[in-house]
Amino acid sequence: MEIEVLEKNDVNMRLLIQGADVPFMNALRRIIIAEVPCMAVDEVVIIENSSILLDEIIALRLGLIPLRTDLDSYNLPEKCACKSEFGCNLCRVSLTIDAEAKEGTRTIYSGELISENPDITPVSDKIPIVKLAKEQKLKLEAYARLGRGKNHAKWQPVTMCTYKYFPQIKIGKQCDACGKCVEICPRKVLIKAGDKIEIRELMTCTLCQDCVDVCPTNPPAIEVNWKDDTFIFNIESTGVLPPERIMKEAVKILNEELKEFMSQVKVKKTEKG
Ligand code: SF4
Ligand code: SF4
Ligand SMILES: [Zn+2]
Repeated sequence: MEIEVLEKNDVNMRLLIQGADVPFMNALRRIIIAEVPCMAVDEVVIIENSSILLDEIIALRLGLIPLRTDLDSYNLPEKCACKSEFGCNLCRVSLTIDAEAKEGTRTIYSGELISENPDITPVSDKIPIVKLAKEQKLKLEAYARLGRGKNHAKWQPVTMCTYKYFPQIKIGKQCDACGKCVEICPRKVLIKAGDKIEIRELMTCTLCQDCVDVCPTNPPAIEVNWKDDTFIFNIESTGVLPPERIMKEAVKILNEELKEFMSQVKVKKTEKG
């Protein structure tokens, strides 16, 4: 398998993967969405809430705030040695809010959450939690834990994780450069350059085939295909973990699951003799 990083920044990563197949790509995608852990608020103790919102709504909103995650310092609650429902310093982080609208109406944002660990903080300070009218107060303690997307979407480390076949576009000699394919393409993949049609942004092609359908020649002068073993893989992190760490964790989990599968197969074989 050959992997090329096409694009990477703090939250996005786009890879070109050659020599793979759909089951493998889908396994990676599903593990990233459902199994790679990240931190999210899981329990909230409301000390004072005189806002217009119910305690439960505030707790739900806190749960959906993405928190920067440190996978090396924290354990999943079910794997922590403390075996405590409440948790310990290795499986739980406490965040507090103590806010009051003294002067007049004001919005409480995620930036007002004070974390006991400066590495576990909201990805954005600008997520609104509640609006307080004059003299209203909000005081609470929230507990964040590691969890997995398969149990709740708040523990999903990505906003998007997709793959698609790598497109191949060929323009035949019978093309008279009428430009109909350029006009119809929703992704502006094609461009008319003089009396020729050129490919401008191959990667953005969605393989919709609209350009083929609109081509007036018979057979169509444009052909859109894909390679069965080459994929473009996109990860967009919520900001909780860098995209390359998400991918690394997914591969680690896949390896562990395959090892577990093989050990089960061996046990069953031994049982049968
Ligand atoms: S629609 Fe067909 S003939 Fe017209 S420019 Fe495109 S490929 Fe060429
Ligand atoms: S298949 Fe669709 S997206 Fe790709 S070039 Fe043709 S019209 Fe554009
Ligand atoms: Zn613990």
